[in-house]
Amino acid sequence: MTMRKRTLITALIFIAISSLFTISLYGQQGKKPVIGISSTWGEGVATSVPLTYVESVIRAGGVPVVLPLTQDTALISNMLDRIDGLIMTGGEDLDPLRWYGEEPVQALGQLAPERDSFDIALVRMAISRGLPVLGICRGHQLLNVAFGGTLYQDIPSQIKSSNINHNQKAPRYHGTHSIQIEKGSLLHKQTGLEKVSVNSYHHQAVKDIASGFRITARSPDGVVEAIEKIGSTKIYGVQFHPEGFTANGIDTFLGIFQHLINEAAHRTK
Ligand code: MN
Repeated sequence: MTMRKRTLITALIFIAISSLFTISLYGQQGKKPVIGISSTWGEGVATSVPLTYVESVIRAGGVPVVLPLTQDTALISNMLDRIDGLIMTGGEDLDPLRWYGEEPVQALGQLAPERDSFDIALVRMAISRGLPVLGICRGHQLLNVAFGGTLYQDIPSQIKSSNINHNQKAPRYHGTHSIQIEKGSLLHKQTGLEKVSVNSYHHQAVKDIASGFRITARSPDGVVEAIEKIGSTKIYGVQFHPEGFTANGIDTFLGIFQHLINEAAHRTK
């Protein structure tokens, strides 16, 4: 073999190894779990998500994507093909008559029928595929309702014994009431805490828990603040807004998002 040939072969081997190395590095980056975020209805003219959810997914190591509102279930199925985990976000009241057979009370808030249809289809299809799902506020109530549970339509008028303001005036990164967390629950593992102060922006709450789910946190007035699916590590909801803290650099609840991303990461392997 001539010197020139030997140099050529060495160079080729070098290129082959270095490109393999580059491909594997690229592959690692490509494995970051993709987290779909359910979007708001925006009165029928916009479909968007608050940046706090986006920031929280990024901070926890995931790739956020906005899932635009649609009534096309085949399209929803196609969206679900491309994500590894799902966050159901906060928003309007769920229609009580339509989803849990209760006449609306006077204090019922704004409804968004199109969003209800999208959200219910999205969450049911995601769970039937085995995707990890985190429900926040409306998303947490939605998990309960989608699996046969019911809601208090309005805490102030329906839970007279409550002396807690669940609709705080303080900023989103500030907790205003405490919750007691069930030992050994997902939320306990995610936060490492049994008692913590949370923010509160809701006037509805879980009433009858859906079968197959359990309550994992309550505020001192008994209002349900967290649920999870029994026997699952990847379906859970919180009534408060952890993203309000996480997006503002406060890490108390970052574990709630990291858990979702870890569960989602199993699907990218
Ligand atoms: Mn609350």
